[in-house]
Amino acid sequence: MKNLFFISALLCFFNSQSQEHSHKSTRALSFPDISGYVTLKTDLHQHTVFSDGNVWPTIRVQEALRDNLDVISLTEHIEYQPHLADIPHPDRNRSYQIALEEAKNHDLMLIHGTEITRRAPAGHSNAIFISDVNSLMQKDSVAQFAAAKSQGAFVFWNHPAWYAQQPQGNPILSNFQKERIANKELHGIEVINTTDYSEEALAIALENDLTIMGTSDIHGLIDWDYIEKGYTRPVTLVFSKERTKASLKEALFEGRTVAVFNELIVGKSEYVKPLLKACIKIENATYISNTEILKIELKNISSNNILFENTMDYTFYSSSPVFEIKGGETKTLQVKTLKKLTSLNLQLKAISAYDAPKSHPIINWFISLD
Ligand SMILES: [Zn+2]
Ligand SMILES: [Zn+2]
Repeated sequence: MKNLFFISALLCFFNSQSQEHSHKSTRALSFPDISGYVTLKTDLHQHTVFSDGNVWPTIRVQEALRDNLDVISLTEHIEYQPHLADIPHPDRNRSYQIALEEAKNHDLMLIHGTEITRRAPAGHSNAIFISDVNSLMQKDSVAQFAAAKSQGAFVFWNHPAWYAQQPQGNPILSNFQKERIANKELHGIEVINTTDYSEEALAIALENDLTIMGTSDIHGLIDWDYIEKGYTRPVTLVFSKERTKASLKEALFEGRTVAVFNELIVGKSEYVKPLLKACIKIENATYISNTEILKIELKNISSNNILFENTMDYTFYSSSPVFEIKGGETKTLQVKTLKKLTSLNLQLKAISAYDAPKSHPIINWFISLD
């Protein structure tokens, strides 16, 4: 008995020492790399009980692991602390520290961040890659942005269409924000925040060369606010040279991102197009015997559904010109090429994706039929 106890105690010890354990689930997000870059799945705007969120920071880490994210940031409000009477911690870096401890044996990067929470004209902005939240607790918002810059922060405008600050839901850059952009103190803008996609924010991003962001801004549970509703959580895909914090930061400053929420994919053309092209793998292409009808199997290797429209002169047999390929699934197209071809330039418009307001990217796949 004594020996048995000793052995099981030893086993427990080794189990608790094991380096990594898995939290993956069936809802794991997945997107392919694009040429030259690793695709990092990030959610860089989240709250916990250390501001107005409803969960302990460890839950944010566990959710991210279930969703197969690569990077998260907890961005507690500096100026809005409704739980302060119950959690009167003097150090505003505490939520980051707790999450960092939880994530340490996992392949999840934690970026230190905070939400600067001001009325218009400054509005709400996330400063990430900071070293100390306490030093951003300043009365003057100009000084606050300057302090974030001095820490090397990447800063983006949150929920720019939020009707509490923009009653028409129409984001307009304030003079304060224009000055911050000119001073290189504001670098990005949320084009997707929670369930809201703002076409106006996309226009602002493109006009001002701001990095396009998509975030959950989660306060409750990802399960309740997204998964149970049949949604995927909003993310920013970042095209990073390497899987490191330094490389991620460089990519964000360079604007190499795409925002994704369900089938909606929003980004600059130079990143949306290679992403969509990589998402769809041509599995097989052969003519149905004794016909000029070309069967093409398209597999969506991403986790998210994508909607396409045929933009070729050739029409389809037995399919609408508008069709969906669900995440992880295969769709067989039957293309009426009228004569036997030796190659086909498959050309589809991705109608659930945007590379500018009202503009869908057109994606080409060259298929050799020899
Ligand atoms: Zn906010
Ligand atoms: Zn927020």
